[in-house]
Amino acid sequence: MTVTFEQARECVLREVRPLESAEQVPVLDSAGRVLAESIMADRDYPPFPRSARDGYAVRAADLPGVLQLIGEVRAGEVFEGSVGAGQAVSIMTGAPLPTGADAVIMIEHTRLEGDRVIPDRTLKPGDNFNPRGVEAHRGDTVLGSGQRLGFAEIAVLAMVGRACVSVYRRPRVAILPTGDEIVEAGEQPREFQIRNSNAWSLAVQVRRAGGIDQLLPIARDNYQSTRSLIEQGLAEADLLLLSGGVSAGKYDIVERVLADLGARFFFDRVLIQPGQPLVFGAIRDKFFFGLPGNPASTMVTFELFARAAIERLSGASVAALPLLRARLTSDFHHKPGLTRFLPARVSDDGASVTPQPWHGSGDVAALARANAFLVAEADREAWSGGDDIRVLIK
Ligand code: AMP
Ligand code: MG
Repeated sequence: MTVTFEQARECVLREVRPLESAEQVPVLDSAGRVLAESIMADRDYPPFPRSARDGYAVRAADLPGVLQLIGEVRAGEVFEGSVGAGQAVSIMTGAPLPTGADAVIMIEHTRLEGDRVIPDRTLKPGDNFNPRGVEAHRGDTVLGSGQRLGFAEIAVLAMVGRACVSVYRRPRVAILPTGDEIVEAGEQPREFQIRNSNAWSLAVQVRRAGGIDQLLPIARDNYQSTRSLIEQGLAEADLLLLSGGVSAGKYDIVERVLADLGARFFFDRVLIQPGQPLVFGAIRDKFFFGLPGNPASTMVTFELFARAAIERLSGASVAALPLLRARLTSDFHHKPGLTRFLPARVSDDGASVTPQPWHGSGDVAALARANAFLVAEADREAWSGGDDIRVLIK
């Protein structure tokens, strides 16, 4: 079945569900993993009305006016008295607001003469401090199951006092290159042979998506070799990624082997370039992708579809593509009908994008020079220099 780019994305996101199992890991080791529990605030945040500035705790109604300095409160201390009419307490960022005070005036907005504080402006009650509980109340959910743990999320776990956390198991992803012409990257190829670069680019992409890569030997373009390695991959991994053998050539036998193994095919052609002969399906409860073997096709179809599947298996509730918009530096046109993903360079300031010269889906070196893919929508033919265009970050 042939589908559009959008239909193929929807299909992958609809079909793939998180793996059931979770494990407890120390918080620092959970970075990059996906939460399998909800995290609650263990107390109010901030736990006390917290000064956001260095200055003086005051009553806003006393301003403008000259205030009497009656003491000091530092972060990590509590002021024992209270702030009465006409009084001020010197306060540091992070210190609790003394009772009686309802605002903090920044030190830069005052003059001190002996024990007299002279503000140069007025304040509203609530200025320059964070009331208790404004960020979260005790018992509120601060992180949800399905959230990927980055540096800010790890800070939240530390803040609420967690030592360990429950995360989804990382999916095991088997990588199966195919082709009679392919030799391992460490080997010396003969004139007409090609080193296996796809297994390594895929391994890195799998790791980046949160999976555990498992490299299989190269399957030869014959039924028995392909079948036994596909069976091995399905037995050992949660997801199988094949590269090559899904085009229309006489020795492209991957689909036939998968069909004989009882595969359900969700699609076997997507209206994209590179990567049109892309296969997605399942055998029993295991999903597989037959990625086209041309290196650019393999890399692009992984980023567009297989990455989402791995993120889904990893428990992530969001598996969005890293898309942005940038201004084209020159005119651009393509033949409508396919969504194209072409190597491009986004400028350092992120504002503009320039298509990169390349020689088609075998051109690995051009991909290494690119930092993004320009996304040419299937229903538009031409863009002028200065137009905004969608860009997929590499
Ligand atoms: P295929 O999809 O099997 O028709 O392969 C398409 C092109 O990609 C051919 O030129 C292959 O030599 C090349 N290719 C296939 N597999 C790999 C691989 N693992 N590493 C590098 N190139 C490959
Ligand atoms: Mg091949």
